[in-house]
Amino acid sequence: MKIVTERIKLKNKIILTNKIIAVDIDGVLTVNKELNDFGKISFDKLKKLYSKVKPNTFIIKEINRLAKTNKILLFTSRNDYFMDLTIKWLTDNKVKYHHIIFNKPYYNYIIDDRALFI
Ligand SMILES: [Mg+2]
Repeated sequence: MKIVTERIKLKNKIILTNKIIAVDIDGVLTVNKELNDFGKISFDKLKKLYSKVKPNTFIIKEINRLAKTNKILLFTSRNDYFMDLTIKWLTDNKVKYHHIIFNKPYYNYIIDDRALFI
């Protein structure tokens, strides 16, 4: 996340309009990378961790700026069990988005021709 944050700063803000921008939650809107590796943690413990996870305020500010002229699609591997607390967390942390999709499949890498590397 530090690299992404630095690159956004270096580019002095990304200018995009009328795009659909898919944004991951954990490790992007949150600062807790370790929650990406949740295979051995119980759902109940994860629920507590997700509720208290710290926001990445710099990224949230940038996403909220992009949300003014684009559609923000949140795309998370969290499943439906975490839907209510996730939406509450997003509201509490003032994240602006237009749609959210849960159950993103787990992968190590993604190969996609529609990607912006920042
Ligand atoms: Mg993630």
